[in-house]
Amino acid sequence: MDTPRTSLDRRAVLRRVGGALALAVVAPVAAAVQGCGKKPLSCADTAGLSFADAQTRVTLAYSDRALDPTKPCSTCAKFRSAGAEACGGCEVVKGPINPLGGCRSWTART
Ligand code: SF4
Repeated sequence: MDTPRTSLDRRAVLRRVGGALALAVVAPVAAAVQGCGKKPLSCADTAGLSFADAQTRVTLAYSDRALDPTKPCSTCAKFRSAGAEACGGCEVVKGPINPLGGCRSWTART
């Protein structure tokens, strides 16, 4: 008479162990996926700029994402990098510059 109950207990234990193993596998994968969805770099804060410098950004149509993806700031001769994941600078457009940004004054490096 004990056999059916023991069998059920084994199934219950196996289910719980299986659930724990699945959680052990899924949790790190879910954490890694969330890491992929991290917030994109934003270099749009112009609070510290003079009116003229802020206006230059507008006049040259600076954007945090280059309108022409083949001409991002990171490939421009006027770009000053602060690292791949940080806002850099520019000789022409003052304020924070996104490596993926762009403007009308893009110039190829020589
Ligand atoms: S000139 Fe324009 S494209 Fe070149 S780094 Fe400055 S903002 Fe970017």
